[in-house]
Amino acid sequence: MIAGIELGGTKTVVATGTGEGAVTEEWRFPTTTPEETFSRATGWLRERGTPSAIGVAAFGPLGVVPRHGNYGKLLATPKPGWADYSIIGALHEAFPGAQVTIETDVNAAALAEARIGAASGMEDVAYITIGTGIGAGILSGGHLIHGTLHPEFGHLKVPRKPDDHFAGVCPFHADCLEGLASGPSMAARWGKPAHELPPDHPAWNTEAWYLAHGALSLVGIVAPERVIIGGGVSQAEGFHEKVETLLNEIAAGYFAPIQHKPYIVAPHLEQQAGIIGALLLTAR
Ligand code: ADP
Ligand code: ZN
Repeated sequence: MIAGIELGGTKTVVATGTGEGAVTEEWRFPTTTPEETFSRATGWLRERGTPSAIGVAAFGPLGVVPRHGNYGKLLATPKPGWADYSIIGALHEAFPGAQVTIETDVNAAALAEARIGAASGMEDVAYITIGTGIGAGILSGGHLIHGTLHPEFGHLKVPRKPDDHFAGVCPFHADCLEGLASGPSMAARWGKPAHELPPDHPAWNTEAWYLAHGALSLVGIVAPERVIIGGGVSQAEGFHEKVETLLNEIAAGYFAPIQHKPYIVAPHLEQQAGIIGALLLTAR
């Protein structure tokens, strides 16, 4: 039996399926305390059998380097009760024989979209999500990349849009990309949540401007063949086209990868990318 777990800040998904990413059966439930969340997930799996491999796609910050002592552990997350929780420890205790592979939610989504979604067959893909936070998963030469930690794309500094004086909402850096362009940032900047801002509102030019600058950093460093932008905020009408247009403007004719059109696209797997990615991790 092959199992996948997607651990999100608000909901958790547990599934059985295949290492090729086919979901056989899944169950979604709210994420609560770590102990309760993992005992529900492992209990559900135990009713179905004993997994030989479990892939996990989790929110971060998270230890993702297998040779490091913190592999499979949540790091300094502000989510109450979760800092230092060992996901891998809980799963090894429940299923001692299972091979457990842990990745960030965004890397799992990048993998899923690259295998069977919006970037099918591509080996160099970036997946950006814009929701409560901003993050990016990167598949480079077929590898999900990490340094000593996973990338922290959302906390990159981006140039300010001329005449933008909004302070930003990141508790660490104020005006990093996440501070200037996450869902909560849009709500604070414009006085109403992103999903209530109409498509012709100036908010969307500002939002696309920041995402285009963020995307250009990815292009400059890992030269993806395609960039997928998902997450709640990306669902605004025409958003991907706006980012692509601005990216072409600021690239000023340089950066060959972006000539491959369409370059900035919506996810195909939508809400399923994380759990499909978790299943795909078991085959790596
Ligand atoms: P989370 O990051 O918590 O998983 P989401 O990815 O769903 O959550 O993102 C939530 C954000 O997306 C909120 O700021 C919300 O206003 C915004 N959002 C949700 N739907 C839309 C939409 N159709 N258009 C624009 N923004 C949206
Ligand atoms: Zn920040």
